[in-house]
Amino acid sequence: MTGGRRLPVVFPPETDERLSSWIARLAQFYAMTIPEFLAELGLSRRDLFDLEWRLSDGNGALIAARTGLTVETIQAMTFQEVTPDARMMIARQNRHRCPHCPAEMQRKSLALPWVFRCPVHGSDLQDATGATLPEMLGDARMAALATHARAGAAVLDAWVRGAGQGVLDVPEMLSVLTARHRRASPPSLAEQPRMSLQTRRDYHEFLTMPIIRQALTVVVPEYDEVAPVLAKPVRPGLHGLAQGSLLQGFALTVGIGRLAEDPVARAIAVLLASDVDGQGRVQEALRSWPLSLRRCISARLWRTQRDERDRRIAEKPTRRRQSHEYRRVQSHEYHSRIS
Ligand SMILES: [Zn+2]
Repeated sequence: MTGGRRLPVVFPPETDERLSSWIARLAQFYAMTIPEFLAELGLSRRDLFDLEWRLSDGNGALIAARTGLTVETIQAMTFQEVTPDARMMIARQNRHRCPHCPAEMQRKSLALPWVFRCPVHGSDLQDATGATLPEMLGDARMAALATHARAGAAVLDAWVRGAGQGVLDVPEMLSVLTARHRRASPPSLAEQPRMSLQTRRDYHEFLTMPIIRQALTVVVPEYDEVAPVLAKPVRPGLHGLAQGSLLQGFALTVGIGRLAEDPVARAIAVLLASDVDGQGRVQEALRSWPLSLRRCISARLWRTQRDERDRRIAEKPTRRRQSHEYRRVQSHEYHSRIS
């Protein structure tokens, strides 16, 4: 091959294929390493992932001249439409596996943490253990969560292109979803696997290990029900989504969908489920939300708490003892459910 001339064999990019994947496949065809192949294209010492992030017109023209593709086709394989704030969301490889895609195929949408189906085959993606979301959540939960997941993915797709239109931006929602609304607490009975007394003694350390408790589990209780207790906490803020597992990414996407649909009601639900310190942390996260929303939240929270107080006072004279008993039982249930 001589510099500048068209390569003898060039196969076209596959649907939704990313530039790094297409170049890696061509390099393999010509039995070259990726740096060798880039040098062949006139792009020596360039980093493939940098080219894929922002490809200058000049570099695009070099690749076009050697491959016969148009500059537009080559640019379409890059992430040029993604805003710098969202770059951390783009993984260098497919995040999860499609059982029908060839192993070497790396697709643009599969680099994003809110894509759960293969864009070509429509199949559910698998996590590192081979499990799919319907297997982890069950069909009933999947059906119940579908519209919220779609809403969340739409919000995220707009944000990644810098076209956020909603009242709330993605980082503002993620800081609330990942806020620690209650103090860390050991696995509840519901979260523990069934074990004998002897096993319980052996696993004392696990049973007493404090687990971080986040608002996500209030906004998406379905996640709280199925996530393995040790893998339940997500990283704070944007990192929760950028570095989360398949299940965590899905839960956060659903959470964003639900927050976008009704931010006031969801925020109040979180505040009511919080303990005293946690409420402070949630309020701190809410501080980035628009003032109009925060006013609605505090007004409605105040009314909810007042109504609850009035209800209790009204119950007292006639049903004091009963109501006291009832509350004790209720608060016990409440704690075992949350902690
Ligand atoms: Zn596929």
